[in-house]
Amino acid sequence: MKNFRYTQANQPAQAIQLIGSEPNTRFIAGGTNLVDLMKYDVEMPDMLVDISRLPAAQIELTAKGLRIGALARNSDMAEHPLVKKNFPLLSEALLSGASPQLRNLATLGGNLMQRTRCYYFYDPSQPCNKRQPGSGCGAIGGYNRIHAILGSAEGTAQSQCIATNPSDMNVALSALNAIVNVVGPKGERAIPIGEFHRLPGTTPQFDTVLAANELIVSVDLPMPTMAGNSQYLKVRDRASYAFALVSVATRMVVANGLIRDVQIALGGVAHKPWRVPEAEHQLIGKPANETSFRAAAKQIVAGAKPYEHNAFKIKLAQATIVRALQTVAKAG
Ligand code: SF4
Repeated sequence: MKNFRYTQANQPAQAIQLIGSEPNTRFIAGGTNLVDLMKYDVEMPDMLVDISRLPAAQIELTAKGLRIGALARNSDMAEHPLVKKNFPLLSEALLSGASPQLRNLATLGGNLMQRTRCYYFYDPSQPCNKRQPGSGCGAIGGYNRIHAILGSAEGTAQSQCIATNPSDMNVALSALNAIVNVVGPKGERAIPIGEFHRLPGTTPQFDTVLAANELIVSVDLPMPTMAGNSQYLKVRDRASYAFALVSVATRMVVANGLIRDVQIALGGVAHKPWRVPEAEHQLIGKPANETSFRAAAKQIVAGAKPYEHNAFKIKLAQATIVRALQTVAKAG
C-alpha cells in the first residue's frame, strides 16, 4: 500500500474544503471497500479525509419521506423501526449483503459508492479500462461469469467495460425511487437514484455522476402512495457472504387480481441497477399472473448481450423476476 496522509473533518463544509485542497484525495468513512482497494494498489490516494465524525447518521421522517444520513451504518438502517415498517425491501436487501461485521462498519454513502468486484479490476497486472483507462478489458476475453449482460455494448477494446455494480442496497434504492442528496463547492443538488450510477459508455472509470469534490449527505425515500408488498430476491453461489449473480428488488400493488403499481430493479446484470420503466408501465392493469410476469421479464432483458461464461444470466434473470413477482403477488 502506498503511503498517504490522513486528516479528519467535523462538518461537511470542512470536508469539501479539504478534498478540494489537493488532487488525488478521497473521503473515507467505514472504509470497507476503499481500504481493500488501497491494499491492492487499485486506489492510491495521497490523502484521506475521514468523514466518519460528520453529523450525518440520522434516520428520520421528513416532508420528503424517510431521510437516511450518509453515515448511517448498514446494520442500523436494516434494523431501524422506520425502515422495517415503511421500506422492508431496503432492510431485506441490506441484510442479504456482506457479513454482520461489515454491515456494522459500512455506511449508506460508502455503499452507494461501492466499486465493482470484477477480478481484473482488483489485479493491477491485468488490463482494465476502469482502473487504467485505455489499457483494455481483461474480462471480455477472460473469465466473465459474474459480469454484465445489459447496458455495456458501447465502446472499443480500449474503452469497453462489462463490470457490474455489486451493491444489494443500490438495487433496493432503485426500486424505491430514492433521491441522493449531495453537497459540493457549488451548493446542494438532489440526484434521482436512476441518474446517480451510470452505464460505462466510453468512460468506465466513472461509476457515478458525483464530482470528486462532492459529498453525499443523505438519501430520501419517498413514502409509497399505495400499500403494497415487496421482496428482494438474490441468487448467488453461496447462501451467504456472496455477491449476487442476479438479484431482483420489486414492489407491487395488486387490487382485485390486477396490478395497480409495480417497480422492478435488477442487480448483478449491469454497471448500475437495471430498470425498464416501459416494462413496468406495460404491467399496470394486467392480471397479476405468470403470463404477465413472463412478458415483463422478457422485456426487461431484451437486448442482453452475453459473453462466453455468463449467457446463463439471461434465463436466470427472467426466472428470478418471475419468481419475485409471483411471491409479492401471493403475499397480497
Ligand atoms: Fe476492468 Fe470493467 Fe473490464 Fe472488469 S469489466 S476488467 S472492471 S474494464
